[in-house]
Amino acid sequence: MKYLYVGSMGDVDREAAAAIGERLEREFGAPVRGMELPDAEFAYNAARKQCGSIPVLELLIRSCPEDALKLIALTERDLFIPVLTFVYGHAQLGGRSAVVSLARLRQEFYGLPPNQEVFLHRAVKEALHETGHTFGLVHCPTTACAMSLATNIRQIDSKQTAFCAACEAHWRRRSRE
Ligand SMILES: [Zn+2]
Ligand SMILES: [Zn+2]
Repeated sequence: MKYLYVGSMGDVDREAAAAIGERLEREFGAPVRGMELPDAEFAYNAARKQCGSIPVLELLIRSCPEDALKLIALTERDLFIPVLTFVYGHAQLGGRSAVVSLARLRQEFYGLPPNQEVFLHRAVKEALHETGHTFGLVHCPTTACAMSLATNIRQIDSKQTAFCAACEAHWRRRSRE
């Protein structure tokens, strides 16, 4: 039996972790388990005031349990890779580990009143997106597909919390290999 681990890097929004676990279990058909992980602050870069997603991903690869189909970790920290201002998440393409940052998914980040429903939808979409990468999916040209590239919050909001038919067929094929 392989499990889909939803990891919490330090304290993360419990509702988001639960919503993501539920959606991933339904999509990928593997039972979900929670997992406590170190806070991503070990990867903090003082000059950028963000955490590096590459060292975080390296930690996840080392921490990935033997019986994990995937390990999808959540962090409240803002993540970056050196060539980009920020990333919403980072995945090992075709591997088992990925991280999703919740930092930029709340309305408050953009100076707007809180909306937990909007936040949860965004979190689920980004978790589907990064998990899709671990199944070898690349960015999809269909803007409504969870695998389409989002570089701003509007692009996340225009996605659905689902893969398009082509992306879904692709991960199903990959999971049988
Ligand atoms: Zn992506
Ligand atoms: Zn797609």
